[in-house]
Amino acid sequence: MSKYWSKLAKKLDPYIPGEQPKDKKYIKLNTNENPYPPSKMVLEALKNAVDGSLKLYPDPNGDELRKTIAHYYGLKDNQVFLGNGSDEVLAFSFMAFFNPDEPILFPDITYSFYKVYANIYNIDYRLVELDEDFSVPTKEFHHSKGGVILPNPNAPTGIYLPLHWIEDIVQANKEKIVIIDEAYIDFGGKSAVTLIDKYPNLIVIQTLSKSRSLAGLRVGFVLGDKELITALNYVKNSINSYTLDRLALCGANEAFEDEEYFKMTKDKIIATRERVTNELINMEFEVLPSLTNFVFITHPKYPAKDLFYLLKQEGILVRHFNQQKIQNYLRVTIGSDEEMNYLIHILHKIISI
Ligand code: PMP
Repeated sequence: MSKYWSKLAKKLDPYIPGEQPKDKKYIKLNTNENPYPPSKMVLEALKNAVDGSLKLYPDPNGDELRKTIAHYYGLKDNQVFLGNGSDEVLAFSFMAFFNPDEPILFPDITYSFYKVYANIYNIDYRLVELDEDFSVPTKEFHHSKGGVILPNPNAPTGIYLPLHWIEDIVQANKEKIVIIDEAYIDFGGKSAVTLIDKYPNLIVIQTLSKSRSLAGLRVGFVLGDKELITALNYVKNSINSYTLDRLALCGANEAFEDEEYFKMTKDKIIATRERVTNELINMEFEVLPSLTNFVFITHPKYPAKDLFYLLKQEGILVRHFNQQKIQNYLRVTIGSDEEMNYLIHILHKIISI
């Protein structure tokens, strides 16, 4: 920090992303990336897109990709907004839909970026305490003053809220925006996309980073009423008109064309998750019920922080949050079967010492 920093920069408390270490090759189970590479069709399309057209700006609205996504979800093109990862569309949504003096609601244990966005835009918020078992007390999200943001499934717990509870929350906040962050919805949950035509106050946010193996391409999107999409375009075009480059637009489009690969890889991850959950339970871990590509676990005898360091020493990275209520938990991304077998092998070794 120096005297040259703005007052705003001085008071920021930024999000800390999971490590992307360069010192050695780890089994990366710490940032919920997909263990499988992008579809061959995506890689081929990306290679073909590397040509002289890169001298030109991309389509600022990404019309072709918007059309593809709209068609995929049975919506109209003007109900889709694109951005550089869902983190960016989340930031734009905070700006477009929430106000400083009207507190928004989100869970006390959730994606830690929400607090960061609220702070940078000066938006008041009230943290809603999760129940003892980390489930979402849905009624606490009714009748908010400023709106609601809720991931479904929640992160880092992995717990999914059935769609009718989501609908109740949307219905009980008719005057305000409810944002459902569905970063992990493809791993077993039902999307709130089907409610969009019924509720003009509902925003659904998804990403290609997890279920479509494209964290490195940075593509996220918003689905909602066309008036809401217009507000997001106002915000975007007040900051950066070209948030998605030509390659990202092209690769993302192709990812939606290869439905077979998408289904195969996500089904594999779900099957691995179920198997690993059982193996962890056999080792006396408590495993929260997850409909995501990660599990949130704790052990009655081994502190999470110790396990974190022991696993790191063995070349396995998982995520530990130094935060009240969850400091004794680890968030473990579901990797390939081989990676998870190695994790289980090492955990057995640690626990038998
Ligand atoms: N929402 C949630 C709940 C997440 O866990 C993540 C991943 N860190 C994101 C949004 C952001 O994903 P991305 O920016 O890669 O689309």
